Amino acid sequence: MSKYLDSRYSCIEPYVPGEQPKLEKFIKLNTNENPYPPSPEVLRAVQSEAGRVNRYSDPDARDLTLALAENFGVKPENCFAGNGSDEILAICFQALCPAGVAFPDLTYGFYPVYSRLYDVNTRVVPLMPDFRVRLEDYFGIGRTIVIANPNAPTGLALSRDEIERLLAENADNLVVIDEAYVDFGGQTVIPLTEKYDNLLVIGTFSKSRAMAGARLGYAVGHAELIGDLNRIKNSINPYNLNSMTMAAGVAALRDRAYFESHCSKVCKTRDEFIEYIRKLGFFCADSAANFVFVTHPSVDGKTLFDQLRERRILVRWWDNPRIRNYLRISIGTDEEMSAVCKALTEIVQPKN
Ligand code: PMP
Repeated sequence: MSKYLDSRYSCIEPYVPGEQPKLEKFIKLNTNENPYPPSPEVLRAVQSEAGRVNRYSDPDARDLTLALAENFGVKPENCFAGNGSDEILAICFQALCPAGVAFPDLTYGFYPVYSRLYDVNTRVVPLMPDFRVRLEDYFGIGRTIVIANPNAPTGLALSRDEIERLLAENADNLVVIDEAYVDFGGQTVIPLTEKYDNLLVIGTFSKSRAMAGARLGYAVGHAELIGDLNRIKNSINPYNLNSMTMAAGVAALRDRAYFESHCSKVCKTRDEFIEYIRKLGFFCADSAANFVFVTHPSVDGKTLFDQLRERRILVRWWDNPRIRNYLRISIGTDEEMSAVCKALTEIVQPKN
């Protein structure tokens, strides 16, 4: 730390992303990426845009905003695009939590980091013992609510009706629903943005559209909320998205068939994997995401993590008392998941 750092930031503990190993020999199931490449249309769009990088990208992201609006059945003024959904979440914590924020104790690890970075008064609301959100805990909570739906790392989802109750019970507060994983079995609440001006839905191209490295996220909400996001974005980095990423986003939205078939593929692999590991004795709730959250009655989480790593399989484990015995395993290809099944069988049923 240099002597020039503002003391407000000296205690910040940055978010720790999942390991991104250089070596190709790992089966990488630790950051919920899509194991498949993006649509071939995405590659074509990036190539044709690359020759124009001498010019600044469009600060209004017009083509992308139009494509998002068409895709989600809303108006362009209801859509915003960010450099990953992380950027949009950061703006929410920075500017849209005037009375503080509330989020679950087990959720996306970036929420508490943004909270501290922007010095937001924070209420952490424990999930129920089965890791579900107890809706009533948030009724009339008097601050911005941020909920990942499906939640990470649990993969558990609230229904649209449940989120509608949350919106109705908090009419004067913003409710941010982070739908990073919604395309793998959740129910989007984008249609509710027409009825509720206190709803902001955030999503990403990183998971279901296989574009994590392109860094593209979106938000859908009331035009005034979108105006707020633009106000902050244009005060930090008007060219937040590069032109190739924007072109890639438009192409990905247009190739609906590719998107749908690959989401179904991941869901099928996930359901088969769950079935297998339950037979091995693992506990695993039904997941509405592209990962599963699992625990075994006799082998602890760290041992499972270490032993998988020894077999060159990377998953996610947290040194957090509440979930020390759990692993989060992203869903890879069928071949990758077969290798995980084989490894887990060896670990929990060792032959003497
Ligand atoms: N929300 C949740 C719940 C996530 O798990 C992630 C990524 N790990 C993000 C948002 C951020 O995604 P991105 O910045 O890649 O769009």
